[in-house]
Amino acid sequence: MLSYIQIMMRHTNNCQRRTGTFVPSEENNNLSISDAWQPRRWPNFSFAEMACRHCGEGYIWPEFLDRLQNLRSDMKAPLHILSGHRCALHNAHVGGAPLSQHLKLAADINLRDLNRFRLRDAAERNGFTGFGFYSTFLHIDLGRPRHWIGSEKARKLWQLH
Ligand SMILES: [Zn+2]
Repeated sequence: MLSYIQIMMRHTNNCQRRTGTFVPSEENNNLSISDAWQPRRWPNFSFAEMACRHCGEGYIWPEFLDRLQNLRSDMKAPLHILSGHRCALHNAHVGGAPLSQHLKLAADINLRDLNRFRLRDAAERNGFTGFGFYSTFLHIDLGRPRHWIGSEKARKLWQLH
């Protein structure tokens, strides 16, 4: 039986304390979502759009969401999130890396209607450390500093060599 499950995760890959809270899907649990999601703190995002597309499970990570909200405020334009949190099953199904940051929280941001370079620069300024450059979206996360390029088309669009 699923009940009010909160698993605090401590990330030990660096000295910063980074914790988040897993929230089971809304079907199974109505209380925890309204308790943990802070609509006034993250006014331009919703629990649902950051949750797993497959089952609705969420991962509420305040530091990540604060940075995402600041990024949105800097861009002065809506950020369309294609993928946020993924449960392990969904991550495997879409071919995500086994240790993908999406298992906690990451954001794949649709590049349509956005200037890709402004978005990248603003994400860096707001403290994001992991970047996946794709032709149609930018992946950002708070994992160890690294970047990767999704395709040759993406390499050209992002002017990476
Ligand atoms: Zn799922």
